[in-house]
Amino acid sequence: MASAKRAGKTAVKVKYKIKKNDMVMVVAGRDRGKTGKVMRVLRERGRVVVERLNIVKRHSKARGAGSPGGIVDKEAALDISNVMIFCDRCNAPVRVGVKAGDDGAKSRNCRRCGEAIGND
Ligand SMILES: [Zn+2]
Repeated sequence: MASAKRAGKTAVKVKYKIKKNDMVMVVAGRDRGKTGKVMRVLRERGRVVVERLNIVKRHSKARGAGSPGGIVDKEAALDISNVMIFCDRCNAPVRVGVKAGDDGAKSRNCRRCGEAIGND
C-alpha cells in the first residue's frame, strides 16, 4: 500500500466508494430522488459531478468563435455524502461494501442484495 503522506499537501485524499460512470441517486437537496451517471469524482473536495443533475446557469462571456457566450446549463458538483450508489436490482439507493476476491481483486457489492456494482 502506498503511503498517503506527502509533504506540502494539506488535503487528505480520501478513498470513496463512488467512481466515475457509477449510477448514483441524490439523497439530499434540490435534486433528491433523481439518478444519474457520475462524470467526475473530485476526491480532494469530496464532491461529485453527476450527469444532468444539479444544473446551474452559467453566464459565460463570449470567447470568440466556438464559444459565443450566453447562459449555459452546466452541472455543478454535489457533495459526495448527498449521493448514494443506485442498485438496479434493489431499485434503490444502497450502501456498498468492498470485498476482496480469491484473486485479490477488490469488488464492490450492494449491501442489500449482494449484487456486484460497477464491475470493470
Ligand atoms: Zn442491491
